[in-house]
Amino acid sequence: MNIKRILITGGAGFLGSHLCDRLVDAGHDIICLDNFFTSQKRNVAHLLGRPNFELIRHDVTRPVFLEVDEIYNLACPAAPGHYQYNPIKTMKTSVMGAINMLGMAKRCRAKVLQASTSEVYGDPDVHPQPEDYRGSVNPIGPRACYDEGKRAAETLFFDYHRKNNTNIRVVRIFNTYGPKMHPFDGRVVSNFIRQALAGTDITIFGDGSQTRSFCYVDDLVDGLIGMMEGPDEFVGPINLGNPNEYTIKELAELVLELSGSSAKLIYTSLPADDPRQRCPDITLARTRLNWEPGVVLREGLLKTLEWFHTIDIADYRAPTPNF
Ligand code: NAD
Ligand code: UDP
Repeated sequence: MNIKRILITGGAGFLGSHLCDRLVDAGHDIICLDNFFTSQKRNVAHLLGRPNFELIRHDVTRPVFLEVDEIYNLACPAAPGHYQYNPIKTMKTSVMGAINMLGMAKRCRAKVLQASTSEVYGDPDVHPQPEDYRGSVNPIGPRACYDEGKRAAETLFFDYHRKNNTNIRVVRIFNTYGPKMHPFDGRVVSNFIRQALAGTDITIFGDGSQTRSFCYVDDLVDGLIGMMEGPDEFVGPINLGNPNEYTIKELAELVLELSGSSAKLIYTSLPADDPRQRCPDITLARTRLNWEPGVVLREGLLKTLEWFHTIDIADYRAPTPNF
Protein backbone atom coordinates (compact mmCIF):
# COMPACT_ATOMS: atom_id res chain seq x y z
CA MET A 1 0.00 0.00 0.00
CA ASN A 2 1.07 3.56 -0.72
CA ILE A 3 1.20 5.19 2.74
CA LYS A 4 0.62 8.93 2.47
CA ARG A 5 1.33 11.75 4.91
CA ILE A 6 -2.02 13.50 5.19
CA LEU A 7 -2.82 16.78 6.94
CA ILE A 8 -6.43 17.33 8.00
CA THR A 9 -7.13 20.89 9.14
CA GLY A 10 -10.21 21.13 11.34
CA GLY A 11 -9.54 17.45 11.97
CA ALA A 12 -11.04 17.44 15.47
CA GLY A 13 -14.38 18.76 14.19
CA PHE A 14 -17.46 16.80 13.18
CA LEU A 15 -16.47 15.88 9.61
CA GLY A 16 -12.73 16.05 10.28
CA SER A 17 -12.85 13.50 13.11
CA HIS A 18 -14.68 10.98 10.91
CA LEU A 19 -12.13 11.56 8.15
CA CYS A 20 -9.28 11.06 10.68
CA ASP A 21 -10.85 7.73 11.75
CA ARG A 22 -11.14 6.52 8.20
CA LEU A 23 -7.65 7.52 7.06
CA VAL A 24 -5.91 6.32 10.26
CA ASP A 25 -7.65 2.95 9.85
CA ALA A 26 -6.51 2.85 6.22
CA GLY A 27 -2.92 3.03 7.54
CA HIS A 28 -1.96 6.54 6.39
CA ASP A 29 0.18 8.87 8.45
CA ILE A 30 -2.28 11.49 9.74
CA ILE A 31 -1.65 14.95 11.16
CA CYS A 32 -4.79 16.46 12.64
CA LEU A 33 -4.50 20.24 13.05
CA ASP A 34 -7.15 22.20 14.95
CA ASN A 35 -7.56 25.22 17.21
CA PHE A 36 -10.60 23.58 18.91
CA PHE A 37 -12.79 26.65 18.35
CA THR A 38 -15.88 24.53 17.67
CA SER A 39 -14.71 21.06 18.65
CA GLN A 40 -13.24 19.13 21.50
CA LYS A 41 -10.29 16.82 21.86
CA ARG A 42 -12.63 14.02 22.81
CA ASN A 43 -13.59 13.63 19.12
CA VAL A 44 -10.11 12.29 18.37
CA ALA A 45 -8.92 11.22 21.85
CA HIS A 46 -9.29 7.55 20.92
CA LEU A 47 -6.72 8.03 18.13
CA LEU A 48 -4.00 9.54 20.31
CA GLY A 49 -2.33 6.21 21.05
CA ARG A 50 -2.17 5.21 17.40
CA PRO A 51 1.38 5.38 15.96
CA ASN A 52 0.13 6.91 12.69
CA PHE A 53 -1.81 9.77 14.33
CA GLU A 54 -0.57 13.17 15.52
CA LEU A 55 -2.55 16.10 16.93
CA ILE A 56 -1.42 19.72 16.63
CA ARG A 57 -3.13 22.74 18.22
CA HIS A 58 -2.73 25.47 15.64
CA ASP A 59 -4.74 28.20 13.96
CA VAL A 60 -4.81 28.02 10.14
CA THR A 61 -4.73 31.80 9.87
CA ARG A 62 -1.04 31.48 10.89
CA PRO A 63 1.58 29.85 8.66
CA VAL A 64 2.66 26.35 9.54
CA PHE A 65 5.45 24.29 7.98
CA LEU A 66 4.88 20.57 7.62
CA GLU A 67 5.88 17.98 5.03
CA VAL A 68 2.82 16.27 3.60
CA ASP A 69 1.48 14.56 0.48
CA GLU A 70 -2.17 15.54 0.82
CA ILE A 71 -4.12 18.25 2.67
CA TYR A 72 -7.84 18.21 3.46
CA ASN A 73 -8.62 21.83 4.39
CA LEU A 74 -11.67 21.59 6.64
CA ALA A 75 -10.81 24.20 9.28
CA CYS A 76 -13.68 26.69 9.51
CA PRO A 77 -16.65 27.10 11.82
CA ALA A 78 -19.60 25.64 9.89
CA ALA A 79 -22.77 26.23 11.91
CA PRO A 80 -24.42 29.66 11.53
CA GLY A 81 -24.20 30.45 15.28
CA HIS A 82 -20.51 29.54 15.27
CA TYR A 83 -19.45 31.41 12.14
CA GLN A 84 -21.45 34.53 13.08
CA TYR A 85 -19.88 34.67 16.57
CA ASN A 86 -16.74 36.35 15.20
CA PRO A 87 -17.48 36.99 11.52
CA ILE A 88 -14.17 38.72 10.85
CA LYS A 89 -12.30 35.71 12.20
CA THR A 90 -14.49 33.44 10.05
CA MET A 91 -13.48 35.33 6.90
CA LYS A 92 -9.81 35.25 7.97
CA THR A 93 -10.03 31.52 8.58
CA SER A 94 -11.40 30.86 5.09
CA VAL A 95 -9.11 33.25 3.23
CA MET A 96 -5.86 33.15 5.21
CA GLY A 97 -6.35 29.45 5.93
CA ALA A 98 -6.69 28.81 2.19
CA ILE A 99 -3.59 30.89 1.42
CA ASN A 100 -1.54 29.06 4.07
CA MET A 101 -2.66 25.62 2.94
CA LEU A 102 -2.20 26.43 -0.74
CA GLY A 103 1.28 27.75 0.07
CA MET A 104 2.09 24.50 1.83
CA ALA A 105 0.71 22.46 -1.07
CA LYS A 106 2.78 24.48 -3.52
CA ARG A 107 5.98 24.06 -1.45
CA CYS A 108 5.45 20.32 -0.84
CA ARG A 109 3.86 19.61 -4.25
CA ALA A 110 0.98 18.18 -2.25
CA LYS A 111 -2.60 17.70 -3.35
CA VAL A 112 -4.99 20.02 -1.48
CA LEU A 113 -8.75 19.64 -1.09
CA GLN A 114 -10.96 22.54 -0.05
CA ALA A 115 -14.11 21.88 1.95
CA SER A 116 -16.36 24.42 0.27
CA THR A 117 -20.09 24.60 0.79
CA SER A 118 -23.55 24.77 -0.74
CA GLU A 119 -23.63 28.24 0.85
CA VAL A 120 -21.67 29.52 -2.17
CA TYR A 121 -25.08 29.28 -3.92
CA GLY A 122 -26.67 31.52 -1.25
CA ASP A 123 -30.49 31.62 -1.36
CA PRO A 124 -30.68 29.92 -4.76
CA ASP A 125 -33.06 30.77 -7.56
CA VAL A 126 -32.02 27.66 -9.51
CA HIS A 127 -33.20 24.35 -8.08
CA PRO A 128 -31.63 21.83 -7.58
CA GLN A 129 -28.24 23.51 -7.67
CA PRO A 130 -25.72 22.35 -10.30
CA GLU A 131 -22.05 23.32 -10.04
CA ASP A 132 -22.28 25.87 -12.87
CA TYR A 133 -24.94 27.89 -11.02
CA ARG A 134 -23.15 31.02 -9.80
CA GLY A 135 -25.27 31.64 -6.78
CA SER A 136 -27.29 34.36 -5.13
CA VAL A 137 -25.34 35.49 -2.08
CA ASN A 138 -25.98 38.67 -0.12
CA PRO A 139 -22.43 40.04 0.30
CA ILE A 140 -23.31 42.24 3.27
CA GLY A 141 -25.66 40.01 5.26
CA PRO A 142 -24.99 38.04 8.47
CA ARG A 143 -24.13 34.85 6.52
CA ALA A 144 -21.70 36.65 4.19
CA CYS A 145 -18.62 36.09 6.38
CA TYR A 146 -19.01 32.38 5.71
CA ASP A 147 -20.48 32.38 2.18
CA GLU A 148 -18.13 35.01 0.77
CA GLY A 149 -15.17 33.61 2.70
CA LYS A 150 -15.75 30.22 1.09
CA ARG A 151 -16.26 31.83 -2.32
CA ALA A 152 -12.96 33.73 -1.95
CA ALA A 153 -11.25 30.48 -0.92
CA GLU A 154 -12.52 28.81 -4.11
CA THR A 155 -11.12 31.74 -6.12
CA LEU A 156 -7.72 31.29 -4.45
CA PHE A 157 -7.76 27.56 -5.12
CA PHE A 158 -8.44 28.06 -8.83
CA ASP A 159 -5.87 30.88 -9.14
CA TYR A 160 -3.18 28.73 -7.50
CA HIS A 161 -4.18 25.93 -9.86
CA ARG A 162 -4.00 28.11 -12.98
CA LYS A 163 -0.91 30.13 -12.03
CA ASN A 164 1.15 27.62 -10.04
CA ASN A 165 -0.22 24.34 -11.29
CA THR A 166 -1.16 23.43 -7.70
CA ASN A 167 -2.95 20.10 -7.55
CA ILE A 168 -6.35 21.10 -6.15
CA ARG A 169 -9.77 19.64 -5.43
CA VAL A 170 -12.82 21.74 -4.54
CA VAL A 171 -15.82 20.03 -2.97
CA ARG A 172 -19.10 21.82 -2.22
CA ILE A 173 -20.60 20.07 0.79
CA PHE A 174 -24.36 20.18 1.42
CA ASN A 175 -25.90 19.77 4.91
CA THR A 176 -24.28 16.74 6.54
CA TYR A 177 -25.22 15.17 9.87
CA GLY A 178 -24.30 12.23 12.07
CA PRO A 179 -22.62 11.16 15.31
CA LYS A 180 -20.17 13.67 16.82
CA MET A 181 -22.07 16.75 15.72
CA HIS A 182 -21.64 19.26 18.51
CA PRO A 183 -24.93 19.02 20.44
CA PHE A 184 -24.98 22.80 20.90
CA ASP A 185 -23.83 23.86 17.44
CA GLY A 186 -27.31 25.22 16.71
CA ARG A 187 -27.64 23.26 13.46
CA VAL A 188 -31.03 21.86 12.77
CA VAL A 189 -30.35 18.13 13.19
CA SER A 190 -28.40 18.50 16.45
CA ASN A 191 -30.91 21.01 17.82
CA PHE A 192 -33.95 18.84 17.05
CA ILE A 193 -32.38 15.67 18.44
CA ARG A 194 -31.14 17.37 21.61
CA GLN A 195 -34.53 19.02 22.13
CA ALA A 196 -36.46 15.79 21.43
CA LEU A 197 -34.37 13.79 23.90
CA ALA A 198 -34.67 16.47 26.58
CA GLY A 199 -38.41 16.80 25.94
CA THR A 200 -38.05 20.56 25.43
CA ASP A 201 -39.74 22.50 22.62
CA ILE A 202 -38.55 21.76 19.07
CA THR A 203 -37.66 25.16 17.61
CA ILE A 204 -38.77 25.50 14.00
CA PHE A 205 -37.50 28.74 12.50
CA GLY A 206 -40.13 30.34 10.26
CA ASP A 207 -43.03 28.16 9.17
CA GLY A 208 -40.82 25.12 8.54
CA SER A 209 -41.52 25.05 4.79
CA GLN A 210 -37.88 25.83 3.89
CA THR A 211 -36.06 22.76 2.59
CA ARG A 212 -32.70 21.10 3.09
CA SER A 213 -31.19 17.82 1.87
CA PHE A 214 -29.35 15.84 4.54
CA CYS A 215 -26.32 13.65 3.87
CA TYR A 216 -25.11 11.07 6.38
CA VAL A 217 -21.49 11.62 7.41
CA ASP A 218 -20.17 8.21 6.21
CA ASP A 219 -21.43 8.91 2.69
CA LEU A 220 -19.82 12.33 2.73
CA VAL A 221 -16.46 10.95 3.87
CA ASP A 222 -16.59 8.43 1.00
CA GLY A 223 -17.11 11.35 -1.39
CA LEU A 224 -14.25 13.42 0.07
CA ILE A 225 -11.78 10.54 -0.21
CA GLY A 226 -13.11 9.61 -3.68
CA MET A 227 -12.53 13.15 -4.88
CA MET A 228 -9.03 13.37 -3.37
CA GLU A 229 -8.05 10.05 -4.93
CA GLY A 230 -9.71 10.77 -8.28
CA PRO A 231 -7.89 11.82 -11.46
CA ASP A 232 -5.81 15.02 -11.26
CA GLU A 233 -7.62 16.52 -14.27
CA PHE A 234 -10.87 16.54 -12.31
CA VAL A 235 -10.46 19.36 -9.80
CA GLY A 236 -14.14 20.28 -9.29
CA PRO A 237 -15.96 22.14 -8.02
CA ILE A 238 -18.16 19.17 -7.25
CA ASN A 239 -21.35 18.97 -5.18
CA LEU A 240 -21.44 16.32 -2.45
CA GLY A 241 -24.75 15.87 -0.69
CA ASN A 242 -27.87 13.77 -0.54
CA PRO A 243 -30.45 14.84 -3.15
CA ASN A 244 -33.47 13.78 -1.08
CA GLU A 245 -35.08 17.02 -0.03
CA TYR A 246 -37.19 17.57 3.13
CA THR A 247 -38.94 20.53 4.65
CA ILE A 248 -37.69 21.46 8.10
CA LYS A 249 -41.15 20.60 9.47
CA GLU A 250 -40.90 17.10 7.97
CA LEU A 251 -37.48 16.71 9.61
CA ALA A 252 -38.91 17.75 12.99
CA GLU A 253 -41.75 15.24 12.69
CA LEU A 254 -39.36 12.45 11.74
CA VAL A 255 -37.09 13.19 14.72
CA LEU A 256 -40.13 13.10 17.02
CA GLU A 257 -41.29 9.78 15.57
CA LEU A 258 -37.86 8.10 15.73
CA SER A 259 -37.05 9.32 19.22
CA GLY A 260 -40.52 8.57 20.60
CA SER A 261 -40.50 12.05 22.09
CA SER A 262 -43.62 13.99 22.93
CA ALA A 263 -41.85 17.34 22.69
CA LYS A 264 -43.89 20.16 21.16
CA LEU A 265 -43.13 21.94 17.87
CA ILE A 266 -42.88 25.70 18.29
CA TYR A 267 -42.42 28.30 15.55
CA THR A 268 -39.98 31.19 15.95
CA SER A 269 -38.69 33.85 13.54
CA LEU A 270 -36.67 32.89 10.47
CA PRO A 271 -33.04 34.10 10.60
CA ALA A 272 -32.00 36.74 8.03
CA ASP A 273 -31.00 35.39 4.59
CA ASP A 274 -32.00 31.83 5.53
CA PRO A 275 -32.09 29.97 2.17
CA ARG A 276 -35.65 28.93 1.19
CA GLN A 277 -34.57 25.74 -0.50
CA ARG A 278 -31.44 23.68 -0.98
CA CYS A 279 -30.84 20.49 -2.89
CA PRO A 280 -27.71 19.33 -4.69
CA ASP A 281 -27.63 18.28 -8.31
CA ILE A 282 -25.14 15.39 -7.95
CA THR A 283 -25.00 14.33 -11.61
CA LEU A 284 -21.30 15.23 -11.74
CA ALA A 285 -20.42 13.20 -8.61
CA ARG A 286 -22.41 10.26 -9.95
CA THR A 287 -20.75 10.28 -13.35
CA ARG A 288 -17.19 11.35 -12.48
CA LEU A 289 -16.74 9.71 -9.06
CA ASN A 290 -19.32 6.98 -9.28
CA TRP A 291 -20.47 8.37 -5.92
CA GLU A 292 -23.98 8.07 -4.58
CA PRO A 293 -25.13 8.53 -0.99
CA GLY A 294 -26.46 5.23 0.38
CA VAL A 295 -27.86 6.12 3.82
CA VAL A 296 -31.48 7.27 3.88
CA LEU A 297 -32.49 9.96 6.36
CA ARG A 298 -34.46 7.62 8.63
CA GLU A 299 -31.50 5.26 8.98
CA GLY A 300 -28.96 8.06 9.46
CA LEU A 301 -31.11 9.78 12.08
CA LEU A 302 -31.43 6.50 14.01
CA LYS A 303 -27.62 6.15 14.08
CA THR A 304 -27.29 9.78 15.16
CA LEU A 305 -29.91 9.33 17.89
CA GLU A 306 -28.06 6.25 19.09
CA TRP A 307 -24.88 8.33 19.49
CA PHE A 308 -26.74 11.12 21.31
CA HIS A 309 -27.95 8.47 23.78
CA THR A 310 -24.31 7.53 24.57
CA ILE A 311 -23.09 11.03 25.43
CA ASP A 312 -23.47 13.00 28.63
CA ILE A 313 -24.82 16.35 27.48
CA ALA A 314 -23.24 17.97 30.55
CA ASP A 315 -19.83 17.29 28.97
CA TYR A 316 -20.68 19.83 26.28
CA ARG A 317 -21.41 23.49 26.64
CA ALA A 318 -22.93 25.97 24.24
CA PRO A 319 -19.70 27.29 22.74
CA THR A 320 -21.00 30.68 21.68
CA PRO A 321 -23.35 33.15 23.32
CA ASN A 322 -25.27 33.31 20.00
CA PHE A 323 -26.99 30.06 20.68
P1 NAD B 1 -16.98 21.73 12.77
O1 NAD B 1 -17.22 23.08 13.35
O2 NAD B 1 -17.38 20.55 13.57
O3 NAD B 1 -15.46 21.55 12.37
C1 NAD B 1 -14.63 22.62 12.00
C2 NAD B 1 -13.30 22.42 12.71
O4 NAD B 1 -12.41 23.50 12.33
C3 NAD B 1 -13.43 22.48 14.23
O5 NAD B 1 -12.71 21.42 14.80
C4 NAD B 1 -12.82 23.83 14.58
O6 NAD B 1 -12.27 23.86 15.89
C5 NAD B 1 -11.77 23.99 13.50
N1 NAD B 1 -11.37 25.38 13.25
C6 NAD B 1 -12.18 26.47 13.09
N2 NAD B 1 -11.44 27.56 12.87
C7 NAD B 1 -10.13 27.16 12.87
C8 NAD B 1 -8.90 27.82 12.70
N3 NAD B 1 -8.84 29.16 12.47
N4 NAD B 1 -7.75 27.09 12.77
C9 NAD B 1 -7.78 25.76 13.00
N5 NAD B 1 -8.93 25.07 13.18
C10 NAD B 1 -10.09 25.77 13.11
O7 NAD B 1 -17.72 21.72 11.34
P2 NAD B 1 -17.87 20.54 10.28
O8 NAD B 1 -19.30 20.36 10.04
O9 NAD B 1 -17.02 19.40 10.63
O10 NAD B 1 -17.28 21.26 8.97
C11 NAD B 1 -15.99 20.97 8.46
C12 NAD B 1 -15.79 21.72 7.15
O11 NAD B 1 -16.77 21.31 6.20
C13 NAD B 1 -15.91 23.24 7.28
O12 NAD B 1 -14.95 23.86 6.47
C14 NAD B 1 -17.29 23.52 6.75
O13 NAD B 1 -17.39 24.82 6.20
C15 NAD B 1 -17.47 22.44 5.70
N6 NAD B 1 -18.88 22.13 5.50
C16 NAD B 1 -19.59 21.37 6.40
C17 NAD B 1 -20.93 21.14 6.17
C18 NAD B 1 -21.76 20.30 7.11
O14 NAD B 1 -22.98 20.15 6.88
N7 NAD B 1 -21.23 19.68 8.13
C19 NAD B 1 -21.56 21.67 5.04
C20 NAD B 1 -20.82 22.46 4.17
C21 NAD B 1 -19.48 22.66 4.39
N1 UDP C 1 -33.51 25.57 11.80
C1 UDP C 1 -34.68 25.43 12.55
N2 UDP C 1 -34.57 25.21 13.88
C2 UDP C 1 -33.37 25.10 14.52
C3 UDP C 1 -32.19 25.23 13.76
C4 UDP C 1 -32.29 25.47 12.39
O1 UDP C 1 -35.79 25.52 12.02
O2 UDP C 1 -33.38 24.88 15.75
C5 UDP C 1 -33.63 25.78 10.34
C6 UDP C 1 -32.81 26.94 9.79
O3 UDP C 1 -33.53 28.16 9.86
C7 UDP C 1 -32.59 26.50 8.36
C8 UDP C 1 -32.51 24.97 8.46
O4 UDP C 1 -33.12 24.63 9.71
O5 UDP C 1 -33.69 26.84 7.56
C9 UDP C 1 -31.08 24.43 8.45
O6 UDP C 1 -30.35 25.14 9.41
P1 UDP C 1 -28.83 24.80 9.77
O7 UDP C 1 -28.37 25.87 10.69
O8 UDP C 1 -28.73 23.38 10.21
O9 UDP C 1 -28.06 24.86 8.38
P2 UDP C 1 -28.04 25.89 7.14
O10 UDP C 1 -29.07 26.97 7.33
O11 UDP C 1 -26.65 26.42 7.14
O12 UDP C 1 -28.36 25.03 6.00
